[in-house]
Amino acid sequence: MGDFMRGSIEGLIKKLKEEVYPLLRDRVSEEEFEKVAKDLAIVILNYDELKRKILQKFGLHVIRETQKKKIAEISDGDKRLEVIGKILGVNEINTERGKYYAGVLADETGSIPFRAYLEKFPYKTEDNVRIINAYAKAGPTGVVLHITQNTIIERYDKEVHVVEAGKKTIRELKDGMFGIELEALVLKVNKRSESGDKGPMLKGLLCDGTGKIAFSSWSELDIKEGDVVRIVGARVRSYRGIPTLILDPYTVIEKAEQEIICPKAETLYDIVSRGGGLDVSVQGLVVDVKQGSGIIKRCEVCGRPLMEGGICPEHGRVKGVYDLRARLVIDDGTGALLAIVKREPLERFLGKKLDDLLEMAKNDIEFGNGYKYLKERLLGMYVIVHGDVVPGKAGLVFFVNSIEENTLDQMSEKIAMILEELS
Ligand SMILES: [Zn+2]
Repeated sequence: MGDFMRGSIEGLIKKLKEEVYPLLRDRVSEEEFEKVAKDLAIVILNYDELKRKILQKFGLHVIRETQKKKIAEISDGDKRLEVIGKILGVNEINTERGKYYAGVLADETGSIPFRAYLEKFPYKTEDNVRIINAYAKAGPTGVVLHITQNTIIERYDKEVHVVEAGKKTIRELKDGMFGIELEALVLKVNKRSESGDKGPMLKGLLCDGTGKIAFSSWSELDIKEGDVVRIVGARVRSYRGIPTLILDPYTVIEKAEQEIICPKAETLYDIVSRGGGLDVSVQGLVVDVKQGSGIIKRCEVCGRPLMEGGICPEHGRVKGVYDLRARLVIDDGTGALLAIVKREPLERFLGKKLDDLLEMAKNDIEFGNGYKYLKERLLGMYVIVHGDVVPGKAGLVFFVNSIEENTLDQMSEKIAMILEELS
């Protein structure tokens, strides 16, 4: 019995030194810690209780009123969080300002990146943990769980079930998925500028046969445009409504050999069901040219379109600068979206500059702001539009970077049907 006791106390002390001492390293020497731990372990044999007692003794007070949350419920600004999860991966990150640990925690509801500002992080991939007194703060790629000196991390003795996404195509990706395995072509990759601005180290765009998705990485990766890569262990976070594939420090990225061809055009249905998309192309029909298209005046301070009488909603009466835009509804047979075409792409499409249109307006009183002219040029035209579909004030909006007539004689049945409905 005595031997058993000693054995279990030694086991407890060993575990305490591994898991609890790193939290107290700044406050107490290892010898002092061990002495206190031994004294307490004789009377308290329950590990969690013992741990709390020791933390308390050295000034890390156990937070009584924690907010217990599942990972999917965590939002920006949450404090005193208590979360149970499985560590999907964790890496030590060294910066000029010191080191921290970056990883991802998951439960059955989703995953969340975490950062631990600790001397030592005694847990590893696949460990189940209970995190007490962490806080959540939104960063550029979503909400991050912050673990500080005042956070308590305990091993959780039950298995946390997580549902990893596994092998997916880009079309199948949804916000919150993690453990994603994907093969894709790197369409674009941009490195963060040297000037040291914040944000991910790398940003870019991937495609596979089913679609495109933006990606970002906080660490350097050896990939370039045109590479075909196999990615294992990535996750999806929506940022400003756009799903982004996040490559974490522990995500495995290998070069692959097979050929991947990106889809030329997608359907609006696909894009809308994904919640939007960057750098997408759609073939469709201009079914409406909305009022507000044509020459407009904008506030020179904030860029907002001026109301009647040259009034900016924020800056009052201003001189204003001329601009040109078209607000179209584009229907591709699978869905319809409001599309906003800004000055440059519209000038390219029209083969006329804003100045030319201003000249036309000067010479012809009927021309007005050019609304009728744009309507005649665009309404009923089968076009290829390229740009970004992102959430606007009233749902998704297609911000068009280029618009051209679809001169290829491919009036599919789909389009013929729309025409029929319109007539
Ligand atoms: Zn203004």
